[in-house]
Amino acid sequence: NKGLEINSLTVEYQEGHLALEQMDLCLPEHSIYTMIGPSGCGKSTLLRAIAGLVQSYTGEIKFNDQSLRKQGTALIGLVPQNYGLLPWKTVHSNIRMAMRISDSGRHTKGQQEQQITSWLTAMGIADLAQRYPLSLSGGQQQRVAIARAFAILPEIMLLDEPFSALDAITREEIQTIFLENWISHPTTTLFVTHDVEEAILLGEKIVVMPSNKEEPPVIIDNPVFQI
Ligand code: ADP
Ligand code: ADP
Repeated sequence: NKGLEINSLTVEYQEGHLALEQMDLCLPEHSIYTMIGPSGCGKSTLLRAIAGLVQSYTGEIKFNDQSLRKQGTALIGLVPQNYGLLPWKTVHSNIRMAMRISDSGRHTKGQQEQQITSWLTAMGIADLAQRYPLSLSGGQQQRVAIARAFAILPEIMLLDEPFSALDAITREEIQTIFLENWISHPTTTLFVTHDVEEAILLGEKIVVMPSNKEEPPVIIDNPVFQI
């Protein structure tokens, strides 16, 4: 199966307390799914398990039939709600460092520099390259985080309520620019949000997580999503 496949995923942080219970989900390669659901239903846990940040789970997480248990099997871009930028590095260095870690010598330094410039331009923040994250607005920082996630050319992109802290106008701008960039680089993407409008705007399918963990998620085709 091409794409991301979650089979019977169970995560138990503390004994007797399941964060996820036998969850199944498939995302075809190059698809974008949004996910909504009540607080505590396990959305962040799911993203963290896919990203390799939760190791103690039962079940399987696979990408293109390869288990993701082994680190480095698939390159994953993660965009957390709080941006996750290193405050002591410039915007440029934040992106360059992520590329250097993920690229392992495939591109020359010159090619990487070109890529950084082109992603910053695509996100509308070319003029911020030498700024430090804490001197930027939340919207600007989130643009940097998204530029960084795209710049590593990931096979899977995971976003955890990335826009929820932004004001409405900024959020709309960034949603649009994110979607444009995704369309030109349609990496397999799972986008968690608590905003139903955002789920409809950005997801070709919408995964609705149940509050009762014993029930399966409901997956809705989204006729509004068109690319
Ligand atoms: P959501 O993102 O949908 O709000 P989470 O994945 O954050 O849900 O949480 C799912 C459940 O796991 C919740 O009951 C939460 O309290 C619990 N949980 C999350 N992270 C931890 C942790 N690090 N240690 C213990 N319990 C946790
Ligand atoms: P390190 O992580 O290796 O300690 P940094 O990530 O702080 O270093 O980045 C320093 C390097 O980034 C320098 O080699 C510098 O040439 C390069 N650099 C920083 N900004 C730019 C830029 N705008 N264009 C090209 N190179 C840059």
